[in-house]
Amino acid sequence: MSPGPGLAGRSGLRRVLAPNPSPMTGRGTNSYLVGAADVVVVDPGPDDDAHLDALVTRAGGEIRYVLVTHAHPDHSAGARRLAARTGAALLGPPPSGAFSPDAVLSDGDVVAVPGWRLEVLETPGHCADHLCFVLEEAAPGGVDAPGGGSGTGRRRHRVLLSGDHVLGGTSTVVAAPGGDMAAYVASLERLLALAPPLDEIAPGHGEMLGDARAVLEAYVARRRAREAEVVAALELAPGATPAEIAAAVYPTIAPGLEQAALAQTWAHLRKLHDDGRASSPDPASPHAPWTAP
Ligand SMILES: [Zn+2]
Repeated sequence: MSPGPGLAGRSGLRRVLAPNPSPMTGRGTNSYLVGAADVVVVDPGPDDDAHLDALVTRAGGEIRYVLVTHAHPDHSAGARRLAARTGAALLGPPPSGAFSPDAVLSDGDVVAVPGWRLEVLETPGHCADHLCFVLEEAAPGGVDAPGGGSGTGRRRHRVLLSGDHVLGGTSTVVAAPGGDMAAYVASLERLLALAPPLDEIAPGHGEMLGDARAVLEAYVARRRAREAEVVAALELAPGATPAEIAAAVYPTIAPGLEQAALAQTWAHLRKLHDDGRASSPDPASPHAPWTAP
């Protein structure tokens, strides 16, 4: 476990890296612990005995809540067993696949333990039901509004627990049909518009990100640049399939990520379709031809 540079004391956040490295998960899933005597676990990760043991041991205090950003197994598969073992409430997005929470979280919900609060933001895009959590110190007097306003005059430090919406050191996969590129970019822009602004990002994979605004702006710019590349490829090869466009847009894709590149290209095409900038006889098929109108 490592707390991340400059972070531990300021945000109460501790990280436990899960032993599930792969091309899609990087070094593995980051599970996070918030709080001391009463603890929140965010994204318990895979259903792995050693990892769940590590979460219980590192928590120190009682695990009261298990939160999940999204139902993908690398984030949620261990959640039910951790909740059963600790008596914690399992909270997250609506049931999906093997994931089923005790209660569903919605935009604006707040989960709190002494000293800390986590506010729920719905951030669709990577998948339809993706949540992020804004972590900040709780107001001492119980008077609590996001970002401060408790009369201390000091704006509280705000850390985004971003799941797979934003990753450390790489870009997230927005793969159609589960992923939605238009929703993804809109969710990034919503995070940029938050007031008070975010300070740091604690991603579901990779290292802590210190300048939230710069990271989010770079993410939006990267998607816009990729979209322009998809449009250019489409203009060069009218009638191309998502696979053919993916080969043009991602010429040096790493082994094991070809399918993700294809699904992400398809997600870009579907956004362009919604924007009226690309057309296909069957946008719902990954094999159909596409043209620029
Ligand atoms: Zn993940």
